[in-house]
Amino acid sequence: MVKYSFLSPLEGLFEAEIPLLQSAKTIQILVIRQTHDYTIFRTEDTRELNVATLPKSIDNPEAVLKAVMLASKQKAPENRMYIRLYRSYANALGVELEDAVKNCRLKDNLCRRCPRCVLFGAVSTETGQENRWNIKHRIEYSSAYSIESYDEISELITFNAVDIATQSTGQALNVTENIRPIAHFPSVVTLKSITEEELIFYLKTLMATKSYGAETRVKGDMINVIAGIAGGFEEVITSLEYNLELSSRSGWIEDPITVTEEILKKYRSLASMPDQLRILSKKEMEELIKAIRDFTPSKDFIERLGEHARKFAEKADEVAGGGKGKRGGRRS
Ligand SMILES: [Zn+2]
Repeated sequence: MVKYSFLSPLEGLFEAEIPLLQSAKTIQILVIRQTHDYTIFRTEDTRELNVATLPKSIDNPEAVLKAVMLASKQKAPENRMYIRLYRSYANALGVELEDAVKNCRLKDNLCRRCPRCVLFGAVSTETGQENRWNIKHRIEYSSAYSIESYDEISELITFNAVDIATQSTGQALNVTENIRPIAHFPSVVTLKSITEEELIFYLKTLMATKSYGAETRVKGDMINVIAGIAGGFEEVITSLEYNLELSSRSGWIEDPITVTEEILKKYRSLASMPDQLRILSKKEMEELIKAIRDFTPSKDFIERLGEHARKFAEKADEVAGGGKGKRGGRRS
C-alpha cells in the first residue's frame, strides 16, 4: 500500500527504504522544458552553443540542426534546488539538521548523508583512507534537444563592452548567442529505486526550479511542464525519442498530457515487460500534479526524508568499512 494515496497509480514501484543495491523499479518523468527568457546553453570551456544534427522528427529523416540542453545543465540547478528546499522546510518546521547536512554543498563538500546526496549521488573527495565510498545517483538525466530548429530559435545579441576602468562603453562589441523565449526542450528524467517521499520532493523541485542556463547575468528563466509519467521495471523512452515523437505531432502545446500519453502507449508495445508497465492516464496525471502542488510537507515528512538518507549512509558505511568510517571517531 502506498502511504500517499495520490501515488496509488504507481503502487508497487517504490522502495520503503533506500536500498544499497538498486532494484529494477523505475519511474520516468516526461517534462517539456520551455524557455521564458533569452537563455544561453553552452559548454563553459568553448563558449559555444551546443547544437546537434538530428532527424527532423520520428517520421521525417531530413537532417536539421537542433539546440542542445546538456544533461548537466538540467541536473545542476535541480540538484541545488532539492537541497535548498529541504533545508528551507527543515528550518521552517523546526527539524534539527546535522552540521554536515547544513554545510553540504556542490561540488567539493558533499556530506553523503543528506537527501540530496543519496538521490543525486556524491563522490567522496576526502583524501584519507576512511570513508571513501561513493554514492551512485538514482536520478538520471540525458541531453534534451529543441523541438524547433536551431535557426528558428537562436538569436545573436550584441552589446557594448564596458571598460571596467573607466565605466564607459568602448567600441568593442561583444556578441552572445542566445536561445529565444518559448523554445521547447522535451526531457525524460529517470528515477530508480526511489521512495514515495523522494518522488514527491523531486516533483516539487521540478516545479520550483525556474532558472537554467550558463551565465549568472542571464537568468535563463524556464518552466517545466510535467507532461507524463511512466513506471515499470525498465526505461520506456529516451529524451531523444520523446523529442522526435513530439516533433512529428501537433497539439502538444495546447494539450501536452494527452499527446504524451499517446506517445507512451506507442512505446509500451516496444517494452520488454509491457505487463509491468504503468502509464498514467490524463486524469491520473492531472490529479497527481494537483496533489503534488497542494501537498505541504509536514515536519514528519521532512524528518522521514532525512531519516531515509541517514539510514542509507550508515548501511553504506558499515558495508564499506565495518563501521570504521562512522562519524565521531575512528576505531583503534
Ligand atoms: Zn549532502
